[in-house]
Amino acid sequence: MSEGGANMAGTNTAGTNTAGTNTAGTNTAGTNTAGTSVAGANVLLGVRDLKKHFPVKKGFLRRVVGHVRAVDGVSFDLYEQETLGLVGESGCGKTTVAKMIVRAIDPTDGQMLFAGESGTVDVAGLRGEELLKARRSIQMIFQDPYASLNPRHRIRDIIGEPLLVNRMASGTQLEERVAALMEQVGLRPEYAIRYPHAFSGGQRQRIGIARALSLSPRLIVCDEPVSALDMSIQAQILNLLKDLQDAYGLTYLVISHDLGVVQHISDRVAVMYLGKLVEVAPTERLFSRPRHPYTEALLSASPRPHPRYRGQMKIIAGEVPDASQQIEGCPFRTRCPYAQAICAEQEPELAPTGSEPDQLAACHFASELTLTGAATAGERA
Ligand code: SF4
Repeated sequence: MSEGGANMAGTNTAGTNTAGTNTAGTNTAGTNTAGTSVAGANVLLGVRDLKKHFPVKKGFLRRVVGHVRAVDGVSFDLYEQETLGLVGESGCGKTTVAKMIVRAIDPTDGQMLFAGESGTVDVAGLRGEELLKARRSIQMIFQDPYASLNPRHRIRDIIGEPLLVNRMASGTQLEERVAALMEQVGLRPEYAIRYPHAFSGGQRQRIGIARALSLSPRLIVCDEPVSALDMSIQAQILNLLKDLQDAYGLTYLVISHDLGVVQHISDRVAVMYLGKLVEVAPTERLFSRPRHPYTEALLSASPRPHPRYRGQMKIIAGEVPDASQQIEGCPFRTRCPYAQAICAEQEPELAPTGSEPDQLAACHFASELTLTGAATAGERA
């Protein structure tokens, strides 16, 4: 079976094209919510002061003795038809953010304002039928395509299940829709009767994407969408996601620890550290001119560091603070080579830097430091 990219032309039969549906874009200009401008676009999802604190239990009675602040006051805007990459080290809270947006877990506090077809709703507070309705518009693609597919179900059942459960198609109509979805993601419809084990890793991820597309969502949260795949297949899946975005006006939130993946697919990038956003910027600027020392450190440890950092892959030294303890000052100060006295006293806010209002950083010295980005093509040569 071919791993070839999707041929969008002529297979545009099953998805609902939501491009141009400016239904309920909330204008959050003026609020410091990491809503760096995306020209002319409406906000599809406005995340406001989102928190997830997991209880720490101890003893025979499992008493709560504290909380781990996995996500601790995250705010950002996600614009219609953009791709926002969310990056950070393992355990920084990025996957917890993803799970809250799709309501796989409930937030401890905060809002997730989604511009739905009939007005803006706070996904964080939805229950019952309203929540089911919102979930149809917000789908997720998972990291491990094999683990997310039931090995005992045929592909036609896996892709068609959301349509059946939501009573959106049945019988011949369902079969036709599944076939169209398979074509959209570059799979041959005649393979619909096969089981997941008959497919390669890349093909299984295509099946996961077809399933996520089945309900014609407007927002897809992609949690490490290609990290389980070979490099050559990664590019095909990323290009497929881009093609689908162009065809159906999709909005993506891409969670990844891989800066190369995020650079390839994102319009903007948000960097997370210890449950908080520390920098948000248009992709090119963040990679060429980071404003937060943690972003600089991440870039230095990437597969394509600036020549200045070659051979210094352990640049993020120092101790990571305990997320169950209240952290005074800047959370990055124990690892930051630029830390000064004020960094231990005051926590910096995520704010616009210098003359670039669309680049936000949570650092007292964001406008003064000259930090090194990733290597440009010329510098890598
Ligand atoms: Fe480093 Fe201080 Fe900036 Fe924090 S506020 S990133 S410790 S320079």
